[in-house]
Amino acid sequence: MVYDVAIIGAGASGLMLATQLKDLNVCLIDTNETMGAKIKVSGGGKCNITNKYVSSEHYLGCKEFVQNVLENFDNRALLKFLNQNGVEPKIHEKIIKGTYFCNSSNEVISMFKRLTAHCDYFFNTKVHEVTFKNEFTLYTNKQPIKAKRLVVASGGLSYSTLGASSIAFDIAKKFGHTIKTPVPALVGFTVQKEQFWFKNLSGVSLLVHLFVENKTFEASMLFAHKGCSGPVILNASLYWQKGLIGIDFLPNKK
Ligand SMILES: Cc1cc2nc3c(=O)[nH]c(=O)nc-3n(C[C@H](O)[C@H](O)[C@H](O)COP(=O)(O)OP(=O)(O)OC[C@H]3O[C@@H](n4cnc5c(N)ncnc54)[C@H](O)[C@@H]3O)c2cc1C
Repeated sequence: MVYDVAIIGAGASGLMLATQLKDLNVCLIDTNETMGAKIKVSGGGKCNITNKYVSSEHYLGCKEFVQNVLENFDNRALLKFLNQNGVEPKIHEKIIKGTYFCNSSNEVISMFKRLTAHCDYFFNTKVHEVTFKNEFTLYTNKQPIKAKRLVVASGGLSYSTLGASSIAFDIAKKFGHTIKTPVPALVGFTVQKEQFWFKNLSGVSLLVHLFVENKTFEASMLFAHKGCSGPVILNASLYWQKGLIGIDFLPNKK
């Protein structure tokens, strides 16, 4: 059988696309035994799904690309889509300003299960290689899968325990695309053992103001086992250039 569309990756992107392809013969392929492994862990299990203040200005990288996406489907459109399908995220200002969280990530996964029921699923199936001759052939650890069109929605390189692989880069390279070397983003900061003077605070979380480059962030910070993390630190990691970071631990005591 030749599918109209094969989607590598049953994560947020692949699933969302599959919901929009109701009239086509679609298959979703994923290494994991079920869909949405990252959705499940996102937002500490409560899926921080969008933000009140989404704008292309808040993204790094190609702003035009993001702008084009948001013009077609922005945060309001996403919330409408979710509400229509029985998921009602609520604003949770205390964690990050303007963030919408769900009651549980499972709500989102169940929604995707319902809305992609028209697809064939190939779980526990890892794509190793893709070739193209009149149609795409996907070579996997099981049987090859054939499709007229291929969508690579296999996510980033991090969290291999949740299924991440380099397949998107391998396919892009093979089909002649240029690849920019990826850099870590949205990561915590670790410190060397001898610098770990705040070890005893591990587990403590508090609201801070953080200054990095010419940006200021206001959100919670978490002292972790080997450094610091939490939303404010993850955001700062996008801008940090091996320079100083300033943290105001008492932002409301001026
Ligand atoms: C701990 C954690 C917390 C997070 N919290 C939030 C949050 O609160 N809010 C938020 O917006 N984002 C959050 N994120 C980020 C968010 O989860 C991801 O940005 C999002 O899930 C990415 O979706 P995706 O579909 O692009 O990729 P993924 O969700 O990574 O989906 C890609 C899928 O492709 C599959 N795959 C990869 N390679 C192959 C292969 N060779 N063959 C077959 N299948 C393959 C993988 O198994 C995976 O299921 C969090 C991420 C993590 C890890």
